Amino acid sequence: MASSSSYSNSPCAACKFLRRKCMPDCLFAPYFPPEEPQKFANVHKIFGASNVSKLLNEVQPHQREDAVNSLAYEAEARIKDPVYGCVGAISVLQRQVMRLQKELDATNADLIRYTCNEIPTTTTQGGRRGDEGGSSMGQSSGFYYHSAWNNDPCEDDYPRGDKSM
Ligand SMILES: [Zn+2]
Repeated sequence: MASSSSYSNSPCAACKFLRRKCMPDCLFAPYFPPEEPQKFANVHKIFGASNVSKLLNEVQPHQREDAVNSLAYEAEARIKDPVYGCVGAISVLQRQVMRLQKELDATNADLIRYTCNEIPTTTTQGGRRGDEGGSSMGQSSGFYYHSAWNNDPCEDDYPRGDKSM
């Protein structure tokens, strides 16, 4: 007989939390190891153990680990931020992406001006990011930082000195 898994020695975090005997076929045991008691505590507090059990039975076994990780992530976020939960984290990251996108657009516009109009690197747009972008990147002609949001080619008739953004 093959050696039974280590779950039989110590109950999984779920069974320990719920004060019940952890059976060899425990649904929670593979995803809630005894070393991570907080993981189940969070999920139980937010979703309830019976709901988690129902959900795990509804999804395919190979999807259960991802489902549990998603529940654990959402539960932790909801405990940290009871109003917004993980939506709070998402909106912070979205704002960060938008801010960085604007910064990238501005830097790309600078690069286009440097490479297409051959403006000396000492000339900066009122000192805006002049030291970071101008000194080294201006020398390599044709350098252009591509991104999914910015497909403007390096055109010859790019408006000279016109701040279009
Ligand atoms: Zn168990």
